[in-house]
Amino acid sequence: ETVPELPVQGPEELRRLTTAFNEMQGRLTRFVSERTRLLAALGHDLRSPLTALRVRAEMVDDDETRERLVAIIEEMQEMVESTLSFARGMVTAEETRTVGVPDFLTELVADISDVGGDATLQDVAPMRVRIKPVAMRRALRNVIENAIRYGGGASVAAMRDGNNVMITVSDHGTGIPHDDLERVFDPFVRVEKSRNLETGGTGLGLSIARTVIQAHGGDITLSNRPEGGLLVEIILPLGSEDMEPQS
Ligand code: ADP
Repeated sequence: ETVPELPVQGPEELRRLTTAFNEMQGRLTRFVSERTRLLAALGHDLRSPLTALRVRAEMVDDDETRERLVAIIEEMQEMVESTLSFARGMVTAEETRTVGVPDFLTELVADISDVGGDATLQDVAPMRVRIKPVAMRRALRNVIENAIRYGGGASVAAMRDGNNVMITVSDHGTGIPHDDLERVFDPFVRVEKSRNLETGGTGLGLSIARTVIQAHGGDITLSNRPEGGLLVEIILPLGSEDMEPQS
């Protein structure tokens, strides 16, 4: 029986492509899970030395030095924990609190400026949100530090948007190529040219930020500003006491 040429070659070709594709996908999956495993291992290995360091720091006599040291170590511990919990695909198991948006942002921006980061806060209307403060600080800090590192400085603002607060972080850098705007949220993804920067990043910052923000019922999106630079928009639901009464 004669079979037309194409239908015969078709399935053959398809089988070959499918096999090749499956093989590639397998390699990619192994590659990604190996990196996740390494990250978890690294986080795990950093835990004990940090605990030891903290015990030492807590023994420092001078109050001011001790508090400063403990605060720094605490932050490193938070980073390790968030890296670990990210690797496990979880958000830090932390208690939810009601915080005032102006105070929260003022403190965060001041902390970043204290260590030399060029971050400024615009006017913020009084609003409250229900958040896990440590996790949310980490998320916003990642975004603000990116604006400083890649965009030369961060301008932070917050405004009310219906029953949400919209927090914006903008900079005056070169922004992100259009095709990469969504991809940079994937773990370990960095835009090609930033790999050459001396300040090496992990490519985890935005993935952690999105994980944390979405776990709060919010979202984070990126766009390039017409006048240049990146605009990051973060939406978070307002605390119930600030919501408009439902009619
Ligand atoms: P990291 O900063 O560790 O590389 P992120 O996930 O925070 O990881 O960011 C991913 C990539 O997105 C960065 O490597 C950089 O290429 C790009 N990026 C993030 N923020 C900005 C920004 N404000 N301006 C330009 N590029 C940015």
